Amino acid sequence: MKVYKFGGASVKSAEAFRNIAHIIRTYGGDKQLLVVVSAMGKTTNALEHIFNLAYKQHDFEQEYLQCQAYHTQISKELFPGGDSPVHERLEHLFSQLHHHLKTIPSGATYDKFYDQIVSFGELFSSVILHYFLQEQGLNNAWVDSRKYIQTDNTWREGKVDWNWTERTIKRDLPEILQDQLVVTQGFLGGTNNGLTTTLGREGSDFSAAIFAYCLGADAMYIWKDVAGLLNADPKYFKDTVRYPEISYQETVEMAYYGASVIHPKTIKPLANKLIPLYVKSFLDPGAEGTKICDCRFEVISPAYIIKENQCLISFSVKDFTFISEKNMGTIFNALSELRLKINLMQNSAISFSICTDYNQERLQRLVQTLQDQFVIHYNTSLHLFTIKNYSADSINKITTDKEILLEQRTRTTFQIVSR
Ligand code: ASP
Ligand code: MG
Repeated sequence: MKVYKFGGASVKSAEAFRNIAHIIRTYGGDKQLLVVVSAMGKTTNALEHIFNLAYKQHDFEQEYLQCQAYHTQISKELFPGGDSPVHERLEHLFSQLHHHLKTIPSGATYDKFYDQIVSFGELFSSVILHYFLQEQGLNNAWVDSRKYIQTDNTWREGKVDWNWTERTIKRDLPEILQDQLVVTQGFLGGTNNGLTTTLGREGSDFSAAIFAYCLGADAMYIWKDVAGLLNADPKYFKDTVRYPEISYQETVEMAYYGASVIHPKTIKPLANKLIPLYVKSFLDPGAEGTKICDCRFEVISPAYIIKENQCLISFSVKDFTFISEKNMGTIFNALSELRLKINLMQNSAISFSICTDYNQERLQRLVQTLQDQFVIHYNTSLHLFTIKNYSADSINKITTDKEILLEQRTRTTFQIVSR
């Protein structure tokens, strides 16, 4: 069996939905197929915004109505008759969402309520896709992924209970897949007491990999608006090259350094079962794309990866003693408590520097926690540039005209933090 994952861009319009039906019909083949779908277009961003307003007890109606109008417009285009049950299902989901927004208690745990609300994007898109494929003669079952991917209550980054998840998926889904497609949501999980969790932004790839792993799929496909896995983001670089085939290892590293093409957690479950991952363009579905698998290549073109919105923090000991392992332990503990991830680190005699994704609230809490013990300086609005498999040329290309705050290299990887 196969797993297909369609991201936000592949369900952003009625036309895009029609294209999915075309892809499934043309390439889905005779095999059993499970389809994972993300929220439509920029819906997750919109829901984050609506949630932020509601959380602060501000008026959110206008933004909420916009989000609703976007979804109803597309479902009207897809089901012009008006008598499809999709309309009622959507209306019901929207009124549930509205109820959640209206009833956020003051002082509620932000991340927990975020998950209960922002998760609606995938419910909307999967319901529309379910009915649309059905109408196109692609018989399918709508499956609630929150009932299959069980996580702990690490809100916004649920940790998967693999045993439970695998057992439950294996118990139910192979039978359903015998005679129909399965349509389910990316990004979502559920706790054992029925609350919704999310798996981290862009986590739908990971959801698809979880299903692929648990079902022992023959292959997983990610359908995107790019030609495959490229050596750089075409938003920032011209002359990008596509890797026709690349190893799990290279891909994991690229994802870790911030290549946004695949969610970093996606590869491990696939690699563990040697399930090949194909990255293909939904705009040109017949084209080759990229195959990610258990392979090795001696020479591979340099990959350029940019992480934006970075923050460089340095800690020094107040009395000019050297930075010790004990000091670092204190710093690491605080970082882990606040779920601040280190993208790069470096130490000198009296200071220790780290580069992390900028999160104002967490940074402030970090400073509060550690300011009695360390002198802390930080710079924000920085970029982290990584070149994997670098060459002298590729380094020049990146470093010219940049103010570099930190530089690091290993045999394979070159990194700078710059303005
Ligand atoms: N809709 C979610 C997001 O935008 C998950 C995903 O698209 O992978 O982050
Ligand atoms: Mg996405």
